[in-house]
Amino acid sequence: MSELAVHLFPCLTDNYGVLVHDPESGETAVVDAPDEAAIKRAVAETGWTPTQVWVTHHHWDHTQAIPALKDAYGATVVGPRQEAAMIVDLDLKVGDGDSVQFAGATVRVIGTPGHTLGQVAYWLPDAALAFTGDTLFAMGCGRVFEGTPEMMWTSLDRLAATLPAETRIYCGHEYTLANAKFAVTVDPDNAALAERLEAVAAIRAQGKPTLPTTMAEERLTNPFLRAGDEALRAHLGMADAADWEVFAEVRRRKDHF
Ligand SMILES: [Zn+2]
Repeated sequence: MSELAVHLFPCLTDNYGVLVHDPESGETAVVDAPDEAAIKRAVAETGWTPTQVWVTHHHWDHTQAIPALKDAYGATVVGPRQEAAMIVDLDLKVGDGDSVQFAGATVRVIGTPGHTLGQVAYWLPDAALAFTGDTLFAMGCGRVFEGTPEMMWTSLDRLAATLPAETRIYCGHEYTLANAKFAVTVDPDNAALAERLEAVAAIRAQGKPTLPTTMAEERLTNPFLRAGDEALRAHLGMADAADWEVFAEVRRRKDHF
């Protein structure tokens, strides 16, 4: 494997599409399949022909272009075994602990249930890259639609414990500025967070993407990973609560923000 190239492009209202490319072998992975036209445009611009698709979860804005990608490129579609009944055309069904080979590199599958029950993240340790779908966002996390808050907390805590600090993280949506505006309301004394809010506001004012983020930045500024932080717990009046209960309260407040 040579150094992997990553091409990020916006699509639909606030989704992101991603192409991951190995220049040496020519292999290319598409992360999720939100929008046929946008992905085909990205393929034309880069000249990178998809050989694999890595699906994080069954929601339509992550899967609707799968048939088109198979049809156009014959790409192998990898996705969560637990959601196979809801995702058309999965070639390779994977779950927590599985791995996939891509351009001679190992792609590790981490089960991250909560937003949906079968959701998975894809992690390339050698390339320090991870794709977290709608589980971990920059300074945020996905809504808990199918699982429980405790389940979602366990998934996020596991990502935080598993992914090294320097890991570059791509997620499914550009929600970063809205997430930051919420984050400062539950973690008001966090200087790194206040600084990052300013930085992402400036990036968005230029219409640029705020991704990738890194695990180091998320540990410092993402309130959904910081349920164990004393200042945040004190601010919420939950000094003695379990971490997942603190997470649940932060998530509840975000749902009504
Ligand atoms: Zn989703």
